[in-house]
Order: sequence, then structure tokens, then C-alpha cells
Amino acid sequence: MRRKGNPAFGRRFLGNVNKKEVHDLDNEKTGAHECQINEIIKAKHARTFSPDSLEQANREGYDYCAYCLSYTLMKKALITVKLGPEAARMSNTEIVKDIREGSEIPLCSEIEKVEVMKNA
Ligand SMILES: [Zn+2]
Repeated sequence: MRRKGNPAFGRRFLGNVNKKEVHDLDNEKTGAHECQINEIIKAKHARTFSPDSLEQANREGYDYCAYCLSYTLMKKALITVKLGPEAARMSNTEIVKDIREGSEIPLCSEIEKVEVMKNA
């Protein structure tokens, strides 16, 4: 959650000068041992970046918080599959629905995109 007043001023990224770690306030994790933004502010360890970006924090040697910035470490995979002959008789909408509802892909947390095309 962004904070309007001093020292965050509504900015998205907040640095902890003590641990040299940057947090994304738009993805703040508020569990007991997670971001602890209020504690950082209370201890006067908070600072912002100009411009307000991860690139700037990175340039200044700040590490990414493992809780709110874990998404920057995530990977994705692109898979192309040949569909069986039964798919030739189905609409693309039905195929996408079947793939989304019936797929078990190892390590997959979410299917982002399914695109059906001719097997040219
Ligand atoms: Zn964080």
C-alpha cells in the first residue's frame, strides 16, 4: 500500500537504508516477518528513489525484497503442442477451454495464454 506522507510521498518503491533492500509498495506483504514497511518508516530507515523505479534502486546497489519483489525472479515457459485429431472438429474456443481446464503441467502455477493455430 502506498503512503502519502513523509517519507514515502506516494511513491511506489521504498528503500530500507539499513538493509539496502527495496520494496514494491503496490505488492506489499504484511505478514509478521515480511516487508515490515511501517517498522522501516518508524526506524527512519526509509528512502525513495528518483526516478521512482526498480532500475534506479538497482543502480544504487539495493537488493530486491524476497516477499514483495519475488515476481521479478519468476520464470515462464512457452510450450507448443500438436493437438490430436479430435481437435480438428472443435472450435478454437472449445479447445482453449479444454486445455485450460484439463491441463496438468509440472511447475505451472497459472496458464497465462493459450493460442490455437493451424499446424502448418
Ligand atoms: Zn517487501
